[in-house]
Amino acid sequence: MIGLTLLGATGSIGISTLNVVSRHKDKYEIVALTANRNIELLVEQCKTWQPKYAVLADHDLAESLRTTLTSKGIDTEVLSGTEGLQYVAALPEAHYVMAAIVGAAGLLPTLAAAKAGKRVLLANKESLVMSGKLFMDTIRESGAELLPIDSEHNAIFQSMPVNFIDGLIETGVEKILLTASGGPFRLTPIDELGSVTPEQACAHPNWDMGRKISVDSATMMNKGLEVIEACWLFATGPEKIQVVLHPQSIIHSLVQYVDGSVLAQLGNPDMRTPIAHALAWPDRIDSGVDSLNLFDVAHLDFEIPDMKRFPCLRLAFEAMTAGGTATAILNAANEVAVDMFLNKQIKYTGIPQLVEATLEKIPAVPADSIKTVLAADAEARRFANIYANDVLVS
Ligand code: NAD
Ligand code: MG
Repeated sequence: MIGLTLLGATGSIGISTLNVVSRHKDKYEIVALTANRNIELLVEQCKTWQPKYAVLADHDLAESLRTTLTSKGIDTEVLSGTEGLQYVAALPEAHYVMAAIVGAAGLLPTLAAAKAGKRVLLANKESLVMSGKLFMDTIRESGAELLPIDSEHNAIFQSMPVNFIDGLIETGVEKILLTASGGPFRLTPIDELGSVTPEQACAHPNWDMGRKISVDSATMMNKGLEVIEACWLFATGPEKIQVVLHPQSIIHSLVQYVDGSVLAQLGNPDMRTPIAHALAWPDRIDSGVDSLNLFDVAHLDFEIPDMKRFPCLRLAFEAMTAGGTATAILNAANEVAVDMFLNKQIKYTGIPQLVEATLEKIPAVPADSIKTVLAADAEARRFANIYANDVLVS
């Protein structure tokens, strides 16, 4: 049996992961489940999966989880806080760790799994955006396996030569074509974007995801974060990555080779496919996803993204080119901005404004330790909050 710790069990990726695992109970065993504050769902999941550990990031709620589980006769040990999350990410009985916490909060627990030499199933792209070099160095030093869950990166991984780690030029790869749906506002007149609501931003045309990543998909900051993620995963620079708008989300990304070949991975837009791929790799298992019917799809369209409509994409490319802590600053400012937009404190168009102002204000330095990265993250959040309240809150 393969032991699995599921960080972020109550989220969109967490729920999809449990759905895949439920089809293969003979292969995988849930060792630990974690959540931020969603006690009700975590209790239900503990009842079903009887994990050895459950962790709540929130210390106060953990006590209440403990009482509830005991009263229901569920023999799961409850831990709390970042320490609890890091502990279950490094358990000897957890062979695989699904890193599906959203945002910067996922960095330390994901890093703990990498340090402990696990197979890391990486959904938390923020770990690589914040600390790409340190994270990849840790993976190499510990002998951990890193398998991308983000559908595009999983598609690229499937389309890459097996020895891509030797370098893209050396293995005949010319460039990576990273697809993006363009989100719900691909065709909205630009002068109407100032008045779009969080509900409209979260109504993604093809994917059903958490609220943060849904807003990032609308602004295309998600694609920007994915460009950065791809640079680290596939050891390349942003100049080798081309973003392609593909509204149907059927091709999940492509790899172009020097001999003229272009390899792609296609499928219905359902995260259970990359999750099943990463769980079973190099084998294949049933994910519960319907087979792709090309005759139903009929058309595949491609467009070049308009950087005026999607300034967040430009900002992400610029941050990756600047290097060091610039990408951690970009990520932190964006988290503040998205949170304020979801709480209706700032307009949708305030998101790129806030990110750009923060990148201009906070100087990037070499990201040579996690302490430096976390300090840049904190400084960016501090400035972004002040700037938003002074300039953007209406
Ligand atoms: P979500 O909001 O649905 O779930 C997030 C999970 O993280 C929940 O279990 C929540 O309890 C936990 N969490 C939130 N804040 C936390 C904190 N401070 N400390 C500890 N735990 C915390 O998010 P999601 O859509 O499942 O996304 C998870 C990650 O996967 C993100 O990094 C996202 O970018 C990435 N991802 C998601 C999708 C998707 O389809 N949903 C696709 C690709 C990548
Ligand atoms: Mg993605």
